[in-house]
Formats: sequence, C-alpha cells, structure tokens
Amino acid sequence: MTETTDLEFDLAHIWHPYTSMTQPLPVFKVKQAYGAIIELEDGSQLIDGMSSWWCAIHGYNHPELNQAVTEQLQKMSHIMFGGFTHDPAIQLGKLLLKITPPSLDKIFYADSGSVAVEVALKMAVQYWVSLGQPIKTNFVTPRSGYHGDTWNAMSVCDPVTGMHQIFGTSLPNRFFVPAPKVGFYEEWDQSDIAELEQILKLQHKNIAGLILEPIVQGAGGMRFYHPEYLRQAKLLCEKYQVLLIFDEIATGFGRTGKLFAWEHAQVEPDIMCIGKGLTGGYMTLSATLTSQKVAEAISQGEASVFMHGPTFMANPLACAVAVKSTEILLAQDWQATIQRIEKQLQQHLLPLSTLNYVQDVRILGAIGVVELTFNVDMKTLQQEFVQRGIWIRPFGKLVYVMPPYVISETELNRLLEQLVEVVILMQEGVA
Ligand code: PMP
Repeated sequence: MTETTDLEFDLAHIWHPYTSMTQPLPVFKVKQAYGAIIELEDGSQLIDGMSSWWCAIHGYNHPELNQAVTEQLQKMSHIMFGGFTHDPAIQLGKLLLKITPPSLDKIFYADSGSVAVEVALKMAVQYWVSLGQPIKTNFVTPRSGYHGDTWNAMSVCDPVTGMHQIFGTSLPNRFFVPAPKVGFYEEWDQSDIAELEQILKLQHKNIAGLILEPIVQGAGGMRFYHPEYLRQAKLLCEKYQVLLIFDEIATGFGRTGKLFAWEHAQVEPDIMCIGKGLTGGYMTLSATLTSQKVAEAISQGEASVFMHGPTFMANPLACAVAVKSTEILLAQDWQATIQRIEKQLQQHLLPLSTLNYVQDVRILGAIGVVELTFNVDMKTLQQEFVQRGIWIRPFGKLVYVMPPYVISETELNRLLEQLVEVVILMQEGVA
C-alpha cells in the first residue's frame, strides 16, 4: 500500500469550510504563525490579510497572550459553569461592561459566534413569552446579512446568497427587508428604512426582534451602510415593540475604527453578540449581552430561567486569553493604528476603482474591499496570492482584506502592492 502524504490524507478525509469532499479546493499546510506572518510547511512566508476571519487582531503567537493561556493552564483548563464561577469569567465580565453599551449589563458566555446568535434569538423569544406574548416569535432582518451557520442563525442570513436555497423549508421563514442602500459616507435618504417600517407596521405582533450587523454587513457582501439606518431602526423598534439585536461578532474590537460599530450611530441595542476578536483569535468564545429589562422579564417569566447552558460555557482558558487580548487592545493607541491601516488601504486600493471591471472599492477602519464585476476563480487567485507571499481569501466578487492590527507599515504596503498587481493582471486574464 502506498503511503499517502499528509496533504493527500487531508484532502481525502478532512472537511474544510464550505468545500466539497469530492472536489476539494487545495489547502496549504501551515507550520507556524507569528505576528502578521503565516509560515507554510515549505518555509515560505505569507503576510496575513485576513486575521483568520476577523479574529487574530494582535497577530499570531503573541507572547502576552501565550502567557495568559499558559498561566491559566496551570490552574485549570476547564470547569463546568453550572454551580461554579471563576476569575477569568468575572474579570472578562468586568472588562466587557466597560466597553459595551452602558444599558447592557448581563452577559451570557457561549462557544462561538453562531451560538451567540442562537442565544440572542432565544433571549428575544423568551422575553416576549415571559411578557405573555407567545406569538411574538419571528424575526426581521435586512438582506445581505450573515449571522452564522447554525439553524436559526442560518435562517436570518441572506435568503439568496445564504443557506435558504439549499435548506429550503427546513429553515424557519423570516421577514426580510432590502439591504440598507445608503453607503456609510453618502447622504442619508429616509426611503432606505421604508420597507422595514412597512413590515414592522404589518407584522410586529409576530416579531420578537430585528437582528442586524451594525454598519458593516460582513460575509453577506462586505457592505458599509449609513449610521442613520441604525438610529431609524431603533426608533421603529421602540414604536412597534420589537427588540433590537446587534450582531457585532465581526465588527467588534476596533475593526471599523470604533471599539464597536454601534458607536458610529450611538444607538444601543437590547441584545448584542460579540465573538471572533474577543480572544484575539486564540480560542473560540463569544458572548451575548443584554439589558436588565430583558434579563428580568426572562427570569420572572414562566420558565423562570434562561434555557441555554453549553458544556464549555465561559471556558476559563478562553476567558483568560480574552481578558489579556482586550487589555492589550485598550492599553495601546488602537485608534491611531486603525487610522494608519485605513490610510494605507485608501492609498493602495482606491486607485483600482478606475478599472472597468472594478465595481466598487470601499474602505472603513481596518477593512478594505475591492468588489469586481464578476465572480473570481478562488482557486487560481488564492494560488497566485500565495506565490506572491500574501494571504487573502476572496469570495464571490470580493477581494478584501482585514489585516491584524500588528501588521507593520512595510508588511501592509507589500500585501497591498501584491493585491493591486494581481487585480490589475486580471485584465489580461492572468489571474
Ligand atoms: N455573525 C457574524 C457577523 C459573523 O461574521 C460570523 C462569522 N463569520 C458569525 C456570526 C458566526 O460566527 P462563528 O463562525 O464563530 O460561529
């Protein structure tokens, strides 16, 4: 029997995100990663443009984060959260309450972004059931949203580009309104909110909550919209008695230029989900925060408890590294760092908008997006980027970057120079 290489084994047996098991996309084997550098098995180095999907804000192999994990490991890696509590969960809670909306002071720790969204949706339903409104169980959400891959999270993702087409009627039917059209830097147009008002007016008796990603719609299209949308949405939620849920899983921890995206509009939601950058990308952890009002209603309702409690809730290792990651972020002039990254993104990427096959170039904080007029060939493009020593994972028509904040000016220049060259080469069909 011929022995398979590790990569052959991987391709034959291990599923990767959103891939086929019969025609898998190639994967690159990583040996190690440090700072903004990912080193492959063959020794080649890639400058990271993805922060491992928004997470690794301080880069990889960070000495202080490593130390936080190691120190916690000496005490306990995990302990059940039913009946116990511990320092990492408490310290993290204290920190989170300082940086999240003042009206939210109850924290539920969960294991991933998707689960945080499930928790948020369950909170909203339990809230209304507790208040004697058992038919307020549905949700409304803008199109082009993305909230995760678990069942109810999928149900509030964009119905066309999301999972609805495949999972069909097995998913609950939600109310969808058009994606916000007015861009972040454009002039506000009140008609952008009209359909939301219409749906709420007609259906509010059936709707528990409005869920959306504030300011940046991430995996559903990397779109940046006007803060006034959030202010108007809040007014409508109050008028029609619907809870407002912000999914800040991607936008949190400085990525958009504010610590959290709600600050662009100064609108506080009733429930907010955070994750990804929470642990600096070290471990999976998320949190769903809510207000005294919501928590009290749930706790005084028929069930008298909130019906959720994952096995790895408030995992001490994850909480300890989240505390350290948040401290590292807050201890530095992170606004200046994000502004520096934003400026570099503008310098390099904005000129691409003159190309006739570039639909749009948009930049907000440490997020840069080049939207093309056609779907990219991910396999070819990824290969080209890797050969040029950069790590960017495009999808659909989007070539986008959200680098770790530790990326140096030189590293980011190199990353963007290569990205720009590849986009220009597309004209000649090279990439
Ligand atoms: N919400 C948003 C806005 C996200 O970007 C993601 C992840 N891409 C999720 C939820 C789901 O998070 P996770 O992958 O950790 O389950």
